[in-house]
Amino acid sequence: MTDPNLVPARTPPSLWAASARAAPATAELGAAETHADVVVIGGGFTGLCAALRLAESGVDAVLLEAAELGWGGSGRNNGQVIPCLSRADPDALVQAFGADRGEALVRLIRDSAGIVFDLIRKHGIECEAVQNGWVQPAHRPGRMNLTRSRHEQWRRRDAPVELLDREQVAAITGSTYWHGGWQNPTGGHINPLGLVRGLAEAALKAGARIFTHSAALGITPAGSGWRVATANGAVTSSKVIVATQAYSGFFAPQLWPGLARSVVPVRSYQMATAPLPQEIRRCILPHNHAMSDTHGDLYFCHFDAAGRLVSGGALVLHHNYEERLQRRIGERMAMLFPALREAGPVHFEQIWHGYIGMTTDGLPHVHKLADGVYAWLGDNGRGVALASALGGVLADAARGVPESTLPLPFMPVAPIPLHALAVKAAPRALLGYRWHDRLG
Ligand SMILES: Cc1cc2nc3c(=O)[nH]c(=O)nc-3n(C[C@H](O)[C@H](O)[C@H](O)COP(=O)(O)OP(=O)(O)OC[C@H]3O[C@@H](n4cnc5c(N)ncnc54)[C@H](O)[C@@H]3O)c2cc1C
Repeated sequence: MTDPNLVPARTPPSLWAASARAAPATAELGAAETHADVVVIGGGFTGLCAALRLAESGVDAVLLEAAELGWGGSGRNNGQVIPCLSRADPDALVQAFGADRGEALVRLIRDSAGIVFDLIRKHGIECEAVQNGWVQPAHRPGRMNLTRSRHEQWRRRDAPVELLDREQVAAITGSTYWHGGWQNPTGGHINPLGLVRGLAEAALKAGARIFTHSAALGITPAGSGWRVATANGAVTSSKVIVATQAYSGFFAPQLWPGLARSVVPVRSYQMATAPLPQEIRRCILPHNHAMSDTHGDLYFCHFDAAGRLVSGGALVLHHNYEERLQRRIGERMAMLFPALREAGPVHFEQIWHGYIGMTTDGLPHVHKLADGVYAWLGDNGRGVALASALGGVLADAARGVPESTLPLPFMPVAPIPLHALAVKAAPRALLGYRWHDRLG
């Protein structure tokens, strides 16, 4: 049977598909040749925030999405809005990209959750937005060194972060499992598909044209600009933004030479319980934070507006995944939260999956592919905030804001050698994470 998570004809089944506001009406690109100032490829947070910024600036933008809006990571993620990266901390970003560009990117990441919630407020987007903070507890005493270092690196850059001891983390999470941690009050959680659809509506209102089920198949030079072809019509423009993330190889692996092979798509599973009774909810994340801890095989969860616990996990092998995840993540949540344990076995009503875009260096890769063609890939599993923020910045570059003034640490595209093998082997990296998780 075909996995419904992989069918581009419709939005994959998930908690978010069941609970998000309706999508605005969109159609396929017609057969006639269309012209725009900028073509945006991909209808996730990057593409939609780019289209919105362009349209609001008076730039004629066309967005092409191969499937439904939010069909990629943006419509299926956990919904945590986190103003930092999963692997690269500020000092590492500065080391990789230099003082100017590195610090500029760090500032963008620092402000990224605020950018998301500001957009939600500005456009009145209904997406269960809760900005009560994001907490990262430390799962081993030794991980407090990493926690202190992260806290210190962000504090030095004026992020409103707070270092937490064991008792403070227990008060925030409702669990005595962790050894301390840190939090950033600008983070929070959202219904991600609701946000996608709200951003699309805002972009349409501002004048952007959005076409779904219109995969870009190639980008070729045309006059002084570019021609983006679909199976139906084509769009010519002077600028192009490629916002295809982990799904870059799904519809048109040759869209831009080497780009799809510069990132490894890795499957991540998401799960939601039924709404939990008030007496249990009161004992878990009582202040309604988003939580993801220091495990490499990540422990994470938050509540949606109806009181469903939204969590998930990763697997090395994908066979029989629903049954195995019910047990594995159910036991994990019960172990973390006594109130859940006492209520009996944890059951998840919905299980779905999507692909995160891993880079071998753990860095986000921002590209100027050619004159007027921009892209970024490599969310490394954490990109709700970053994609939304970078989408706006890529739009600024495309509308002519001098690149030197923007937080865009361009790097060349570096296809991963033996990419197909790397994609197959990637889930096995989880074994290494689990081993590392048990240390100090
Ligand atoms: C299961 C899961 C859980 C996650 N949880 C979190 C979380 O809790 N917090 C967090 O910060 N991050 C999380 N992430 C990461 C986050 O979702 C992504 O970083 C973010 O959504 C990336 O947005 P994007 O717009 O760059 O890419 P995407 O949302 O992936 O959008 C890319 C789009 O491009 C389209 N596309 C591809 N090829 C073409 C083509 N040729 N023509 C036209 N369209 C094309 C795809 O259909 C897709 O809709 C998670 C990701 C996944 C998969």
